[in-house]
Amino acid sequence: MDIGVLALQGDFREHISALKNCGVNARPVKTKDEIVEIDALVIPGGESTTISKLAKAFDLFDLIKDRIAKGMPTYGSCAGMILVSKTILDPASGQESFGGIDIVVRRNAFGKQVDSFEADLYFEGIAGDPLRAIFIRAPWVESYSNEVKVLATVNFQGESHPVAVSQGNVLATSFHPEITGDSRVHEYFLREFCKK
Ligand code: GLN
Repeated sequence: MDIGVLALQGDFREHISALKNCGVNARPVKTKDEIVEIDALVIPGGESTTISKLAKAFDLFDLIKDRIAKGMPTYGSCAGMILVSKTILDPASGQESFGGIDIVVRRNAFGKQVDSFEADLYFEGIAGDPLRAIFIRAPWVESYSNEVKVLATVNFQGESHPVAVSQGNVLATSFHPEITGDSRVHEYFLREFCKK
């Protein structure tokens, strides 16, 4: 299994390390040829507007959109969640997503950079201790269709919000498992989506 991590902007190096810790072949991808070759894609955290602008500038946008729509296993974390969503609330002007999962996400839902926080979460399908989840100017899932499975939620100001979801070939988390040293979310993606 050849796993590509979209390397246009953001913390793709951390995802590559986390995937390598799981014992798989992971590499940065940023050209059409590389994106055609891979079996699965991880879209990292960073800035979703920048990633989508660069994907358009390098003529990768439609290819990625099409590969996700045709079933390529895909995991989006934070900005990556925004990029696989169907609809973005509070988008930058003209911002588009690749789609893949039938969710409406709200960008920067928990507040500004200074409002970043950590929480311990229960994640359906991941056994053991709760997951330490790091939220950095993170989105949340505002609404979702019946096809979408909610895997984790977080309580924020008295309300519960989905922060890990999946549908078909696509997994998305609002938080950043690649920077905790705990590779259980990457293992979960490989096991459940990539049939490692
Ligand atoms: N707020 C960022 C965006 O809109 C996402 C932040 C992140 O990936 N840590 O893309």
